[in-house]
Amino acid sequence: MARSYNGKILHVDLTNGEFRVEEPGEGFYRKYMGGSALAMHYLLKEIPPAADPLGPENVLVLALSVLTGAAISGQSRMTAAAKSPLTGAIGDSQGGGFFPAELKFAGFDAIVIKGKAEKPVYLWINDGRYELRDASHLWGAITGEAEATIKEELGDDKVEVLQIGPAGEAAVRFAGIFSMSNRANGRTGMGAVMGSKKLKAVAVRGKKRPKVADKAGLSQLAKWGVDNLDDSDIAGLAKYGTAETTGSNQTSGTLPTYNFNSGVFDHWESIDGTTMYDTVLRGAAEGKQDRIGRDTCYACTVRCKRVVEITKGPYQVDPHYGGPEYETTSTFGNYCAIDDLPAICKANEICNKYGMDTISCGATISWAFEAFNEGKLTLEDTDGLDLTWGNAESMVKLTEKIAKRDGFGDILAEGSERAARKIGRGTEAYLITFKGQEAPAHMPRVKRSLAIIYATNPFGADHQSHEHDPAIEKDFEYYTERLALLGFSEEQEPRSLSDEKIRFTVASQRMYSAMDSLNLCQFVYGPAWQLYGPADMVELVKTVTGWEDVSLDELQRVGERRLNMMRTFNAREGLDRKDDVLPQKLFKPLKGGVSDGWKLERDEIESALDKYFEFCGWDVKTGNPTRAKLEELDLGWVADQLGMDG
Ligand code: SF4
Repeated sequence: MARSYNGKILHVDLTNGEFRVEEPGEGFYRKYMGGSALAMHYLLKEIPPAADPLGPENVLVLALSVLTGAAISGQSRMTAAAKSPLTGAIGDSQGGGFFPAELKFAGFDAIVIKGKAEKPVYLWINDGRYELRDASHLWGAITGEAEATIKEELGDDKVEVLQIGPAGEAAVRFAGIFSMSNRANGRTGMGAVMGSKKLKAVAVRGKKRPKVADKAGLSQLAKWGVDNLDDSDIAGLAKYGTAETTGSNQTSGTLPTYNFNSGVFDHWESIDGTTMYDTVLRGAAEGKQDRIGRDTCYACTVRCKRVVEITKGPYQVDPHYGGPEYETTSTFGNYCAIDDLPAICKANEICNKYGMDTISCGATISWAFEAFNEGKLTLEDTDGLDLTWGNAESMVKLTEKIAKRDGFGDILAEGSERAARKIGRGTEAYLITFKGQEAPAHMPRVKRSLAIIYATNPFGADHQSHEHDPAIEKDFEYYTERLALLGFSEEQEPRSLSDEKIRFTVASQRMYSAMDSLNLCQFVYGPAWQLYGPADMVELVKTVTGWEDVSLDELQRVGERRLNMMRTFNAREGLDRKDDVLPQKLFKPLKGGVSDGWKLERDEIESALDKYFEFCGWDVKTGNPTRAKLEELDLGWVADQLGMDG
């Protein structure tokens, strides 16, 4: 039968160099659909409890979905998942580009990587064939150089390379995995896991296009996206990139500034998406940036990726390393009160060259800035770097020192929570971390459902794990039709944590969780403002797979299944509700702008957490899944494995 997946999972044991190809049946693909849920299946089965995240017993899964490689926008994405060296909990990250589609074309739906090689290696997958090759000569190379060398030695410029940089080799705890030297599976330290296995890269090339059940239907759906992009809510994001949202965050007082002490930044216009478009995108000087300053992922019409080129001044930037997202302009910018866009682009380039997550890196630096400005760190601690708010030069130097684990950078390479523990002196008060992971650039004191998601999310604070509050608050009237499909018909009060808001949080979290299992881009597909809505997503799955009876309920169930597996993984590691804590700073009032004085209240958060666990069907006291819930999701094997009571 024609199918959109290869039906092949490649298992690699790096300790002995052995390979195994598993061929699961259709039931497996229908149950997990791919990506993150599929990865969880292997992580729960293969990682022993209490495994060292940087030891050979940790398992790294790279997984695609049943949709990857189909010719439509927003499908060329991949999950990288393992136990996280940053949090000690489950680690999970999503990344896009061309590598995911190429891996599908090369004949596999996922790679399960175990053990540890004796010396650096890279995995070469070419049209269904696979081998490990020596990578000793690549160890220490920055991403652009390693990528070029691999392509040259394989003699094919069309090879796609997924790799770690020197930061992953050096176990920077927030090192990511990169393709194209600028697309990151950035969060939760997956690059450090890959580095601990001495796996420098995975190179892929393939010619086998996935079979699509209804080709004409897929073309029609894809064409609808192309025809409607300019009139959609993501037209601005396409043209100006994700940093286009800087202005709306400023207006709503949700732009984290001075390390989350304020929700507004006076100089926001210096670093927003429009300024980037007008000044530093490649081709801006000649007005050609739409053509050469925007990049894309395989088959995506949106072209939201930034390509920055700076050839003059103190911060010159090579376009090979892309350009910053909103999260990056925020963490290196407004978090640190820095309004120097070229400096932010330079920090982004360093992260992409050395292979680090820009969110955790920038947020860790911002924590150090606050500690310095509060007199808890001195020039002696910082190797002479003046971390006064707004000092762009020190920010750039510190980014490089972290990548190289040099001096003070070595302490920060452990992440802000471990750094605060090591330094002490009350610097814990400046942390904005959840389960040890630094928070992305969205404000839980204003968008209150974020407080619940940041606290409970199995892999730490994440801004792409549910639909933010405005969709069911001020923007509700625009999305009534789409939200009705999820069962929501009432607008909620701003900043409320009503039962209905929590129910919406849970339902939209399941939807986003399904998208991470289908490996869909969350700018293109989603429940509200995205190009395609929930009904289109169901149509897409039907069209590509031929599963005619698939429904939104089934997709939501896949999302729920993934979250239950993740939460159970954490329970096995000893985590529960006591670890779903919010940083103390969020209970203090914001200063300035429209959000001046807004803060979280502990009682309100605790009641909202009770409600959240209740809606999830989990034990309210522990926040953990029950056997009954796991069995309801056809995950009895997970409960059995953990020896859960009946
Ligand atoms: S919207 Fe942007 S990030 Fe998403 S698939 Fe398209 S180009 Fe890639």
